[in-house]
Amino acid sequence: MTTHSVPRGTKDILPSEIPYWHLIESTARNLFDLYNYQEIRTPIFEHAELFEQGIGQGTDIVEKEMYTFTDKGDRRLTLRPEGTAPIVRAVIQHPELIHHQNAKLYYCGPMFRYERPQSGRYRQFHQVGVEYIGESNPEADIEIISMAYRFFEALGLEKLTVNVNSIGDEISRPVINEAIRQFLGNTKWLEKELCPRCLPRFNQNPLRILDCKNEVCNQYLSGMPDIKTLQSAACKDHFHSVIDGLKRLKIPFKVNPFLVRGLDYYTRTTFEIISDNLGAQNAICGGGRYDNLIKKMGGKSTPAIGFAFGIERIILALQAQKKVIKNTHSLIFIAPIGYTYYSQGMQMLDTLRRSGFKSEMDYAQKNDLKSQLKTANKLKATFVIILGEEEALKNTIIVKNMKTGIQTEIPSKTMVKYLQAQT
Ligand code: AMP
Repeated sequence: MTTHSVPRGTKDILPSEIPYWHLIESTARNLFDLYNYQEIRTPIFEHAELFEQGIGQGTDIVEKEMYTFTDKGDRRLTLRPEGTAPIVRAVIQHPELIHHQNAKLYYCGPMFRYERPQSGRYRQFHQVGVEYIGESNPEADIEIISMAYRFFEALGLEKLTVNVNSIGDEISRPVINEAIRQFLGNTKWLEKELCPRCLPRFNQNPLRILDCKNEVCNQYLSGMPDIKTLQSAACKDHFHSVIDGLKRLKIPFKVNPFLVRGLDYYTRTTFEIISDNLGAQNAICGGGRYDNLIKKMGGKSTPAIGFAFGIERIILALQAQKKVIKNTHSLIFIAPIGYTYYSQGMQMLDTLRRSGFKSEMDYAQKNDLKSQLKTANKLKATFVIILGEEEALKNTIIVKNMKTGIQTEIPSKTMVKYLQAQT
């Protein structure tokens, strides 16, 4: 018989890793609630055109990474590769999401990209993302960047760098693109020197050459004037206000003039948070402003800014700093000595669980105490409740503290009260 394994680039998230997931998800939910953001859940697949139009045709995601299929009704659908385009679709489809011209939303869920798998890069991965829709002022950028930083701070993540830049608006973009072309100069040598990904970018979208990871491309860009000097006064003012605001909130950051990010929809502020505890895939969070996207997708012209972080990479970063996260609820184990006491044990289990105690009993009908204590030890139970003949006659139970080894006999009906006082 053939055995099966998960598809390449995906993985099972096993119970031992789940406490990390719960911690990250609950930290995010609690923090985002404090900033007054609301959760939204959109479908896992959408019409392919949504991403083609939203993310942009020339991008890596749309060109080669989408899981697109045709359903039985001949619709072209795509497993979502990112969360912003679906949120924009939802905001346009449900105008009531906008209160006082603002929608402050967050999402959490799986994303799908056909990428080359490696540590920290998967084909199914999970993002938590935030979108602040409707505000063009720099205070929104400050809130979004500081919220992302405060989230990582709350998780206790160390060795982080926040990189911030501005890539200008639609007016400055052609000027910037032309300046990059001029700086790189003669196309004849470019054909030999630039990497195969940057060569088409030279004509189509030179801005993207700035964040190429290839060393040769980087070398040719060294000495390139900061693209912020080519931006309009309004863009420059906006950026300075963002920087000043981050300083006032004491968010540590670096201005990185080469940070442009891979999605087409960004305008003005872009940012990325890098963990020095990870290898090649060291970006744990990315975001930026996208003031033109909502109009481009058929909505009213509405400014917006957001970010997304990858849960898998955060777990890798937490594990790299040896942060162990476990399920901390203590377990109570019920050990009936002999089958006669099983039904009483089942009733006690029910009482314990209804009183909020995590508890369990071995149904394998092991009648001797020794083997049951062994099981309790393996399960890391904190207390074992022993139900034996002698005790049953007196309506008592024995509670064994597994840490100290001390056994205490108590009336059965005081079990919950006793355990509440102990834990
Ligand atoms: P992006 O949507 O590309 O801006 O990515 C935002 C964040 O999602 C990144 O900083 C990563 O933490 C995470 N991420 C993106 N792609 C992947 C992937 N293929 N596997 C795991 N995490 C990813």
